[in-house]
Amino acid sequence: MPPSPTPRKKHILIIGAGIAGLCFALQILTHAHDYYTISVFEKTPGPDANAGFCIILPPNAVRILRELGLDLVAEDCATPLTHTRLHSASGETLLEARGLFPRDPTSLLTVERGKFVALLLRQLQRRGALVNWDRKVIGVLSAPDGVEVRFRDAPSVTADLCVGADGTWSGVRKALYSGRPAWLPKPTRWTALYGISPVEESATEMLRLYLRRGAPGAYATYSLSRGRVFWICYESSTPSSPLGDPEETLREFEYLPYGPAGFGHVINRAETTPRKVRLWHTVFATTADVHGVVVLIGDAAHPQTTFVGQGAARGIEEGAELRRHLLRAAWAPEHSLRAAVTAFAQASAPRSRRVAGAGWWAGAAVMGDWAWSRWARDAAVRWIVRAERKRQQQQQQQQVHARIRAAKGNPSRKQRQNKREHWLLDYRVLVETEEEFCRARAAQQQRRRRGRRWMCAALACAALLLAAAMASCSGQIDG
Ligand SMILES: Cc1cc2nc3c(=O)[nH]c(=O)nc-3n(C[C@H](O)[C@H](O)[C@H](O)COP(=O)(O)OP(=O)(O)OC[C@H]3O[C@@H](n4cnc5c(N)ncnc54)[C@H](O)[C@@H]3O)c2cc1C
Repeated sequence: MPPSPTPRKKHILIIGAGIAGLCFALQILTHAHDYYTISVFEKTPGPDANAGFCIILPPNAVRILRELGLDLVAEDCATPLTHTRLHSASGETLLEARGLFPRDPTSLLTVERGKFVALLLRQLQRRGALVNWDRKVIGVLSAPDGVEVRFRDAPSVTADLCVGADGTWSGVRKALYSGRPAWLPKPTRWTALYGISPVEESATEMLRLYLRRGAPGAYATYSLSRGRVFWICYESSTPSSPLGDPEETLREFEYLPYGPAGFGHVINRAETTPRKVRLWHTVFATTADVHGVVVLIGDAAHPQTTFVGQGAARGIEEGAELRRHLLRAAWAPEHSLRAAVTAFAQASAPRSRRVAGAGWWAGAAVMGDWAWSRWARDAAVRWIVRAERKRQQQQQQQQVHARIRAAKGNPSRKQRQNKREHWLLDYRVLVETEEEFCRARAAQQQRRRRGRRWMCAALACAALLLAAAMASCSGQIDG
């Protein structure tokens, strides 16, 4: 039996209607609506279907979305990633991956971001919640009974908790750091130019022409539905000289439609106008405030490069993790949001650091900023491709042997122990599954029930002993 809901539901403000904010909103509406209500605020006047165009979602995120009842392939938002190629700036194919995928091919997806966000918004509406558009956060203050969020050109709102899911340039983070320069994300040397093209050959050819031969950089293509490809081209360039306003300088390229002279052929042949962004890499040390009423998730907490495809995935994971900490807090008698937020910030920080760090190192390896590192990269990739081919051959042989063993009713020990999806790419799901979470909760409730039973038994024994002692005392007095 779940514990009865608290009399007053706590109110959570979610700032930012990006992937992290919307997924967290759905988590609360699906699993914690007995204890919490939500309001979502977004600075833009409506959804931006084009920001980022596509993302690759790995199995750790796809599983969490499935647990929310979202099947992106069935909803026509995503295609299983069947084919990806990585090219050097000279046009040489460094890696052509058909086999670098998890066992379940439907759990590594190329997701069209506009359709995905539209799906999340529909689901939100279906569960009775709406996004408040055109509300830019300009301040977050501690209020006597929670938090007060101030908006540009709109009245402020108070609530019990504020979740900042407002991306790389988070206004909530700026408030958390009281505007100190430490709130600014740090730029990398790398920029990404990206778009969608109807045919893969046209995309690879135009990118080969675009990048200087032998220069640092690389480009990759990812298969989409109907033969189209999502392409992304990484270049090295230092951020332009700092001007008076550091925020404006660093913000350069943020989702800019890209159309310089001499690049018309890219625009003509792309399905969408290509865009260019600078890549960021910072893991902020402070992601929750001391009063425990403000917490950051997604890019607001750790802007990261795109090289390991875990940016949005980490935002989705954090939504699930934060919801679980909030639920645990709701089940406790004191219902302390502060304890939940502190526990979440402590538990999620190590994985965020690891994922963002892996993104930076993968970037350094792929970009090959120096001639020697390009040579090392190409040698390493050739080795990986050879090892991958060998692995595939071995796997085929093992499958044949496994089938023979299964026919004899004797599964191999190695097969039973092999939990890792792939020798190179570790797609293991590191956040507990919904099933594990429920099991842990049932065990916790059982422990509490057992504790209560022991307590009752101890009290009954004590009462009996007391009664016996009193009876013997009264007998002695009578005697
Ligand atoms: C080209 C490219 C490719 C990528 N590829 C991948 C990939 O393959 N796999 C992957 O997992 N990730 C990928 N990423 C990263 C991924 O897109 C981000 O990590 C993810 O979108 C972050 O989601 P978010 O909700 O935290 O932030 P955002 O998506 O940035 O959303 C933040 C929202 O908050 C709003 N907002 C901002 N400031 C305010 C304010 N003051 N008040 C109110 N609202 C505000 C913004 O308008 C926005 O809607 C890629 C990114 C790019 C650019």
